[in-house]
Amino acid sequence: MTARRKVWAIEADVLDMINEASRDTLPNEFVAALRAEKGVITEILLFPGSVSNEHAAFMQLHMLPIDLSVVGTVHSHPGPSNRPSNEDVHLFGNFGSTHIITCLPYDRRSWQAYDRSGRPVELEVVD
Ligand SMILES: [Zn+2]
Repeated sequence: MTARRKVWAIEADVLDMINEASRDTLPNEFVAALRAEKGVITEILLFPGSVSNEHAAFMQLHMLPIDLSVVGTVHSHPGPSNRPSNEDVHLFGNFGSTHIITCLPYDRRSWQAYDRSGRPVELEVVD
């Protein structure tokens, strides 16, 4: 068995919130930062103002206050693929260890987590 990742789980409520926000943001992409406590993602951190462009939103990450509980990012794809684009992988490499992409239909099975190299990682869903 491999060692547990530093970030190993996400709360079910947070996942539901992400999917709901992704649906509300259509046809645009929803982007937020992920916050974790003891390795479990417990909160999303929204960016101030409305966000209409994924990459503009990622850029704002650099303006966030230094917060060690921020472990990565989440964004939605307005299509049926949750695979990271080359641009996504590039941005993952700049910030945080754990990144989630969710896609249509935005349900409990339509998301995937990735490491900073864009490799899929398993995250447990906890209550
Ligand atoms: Zn993307």
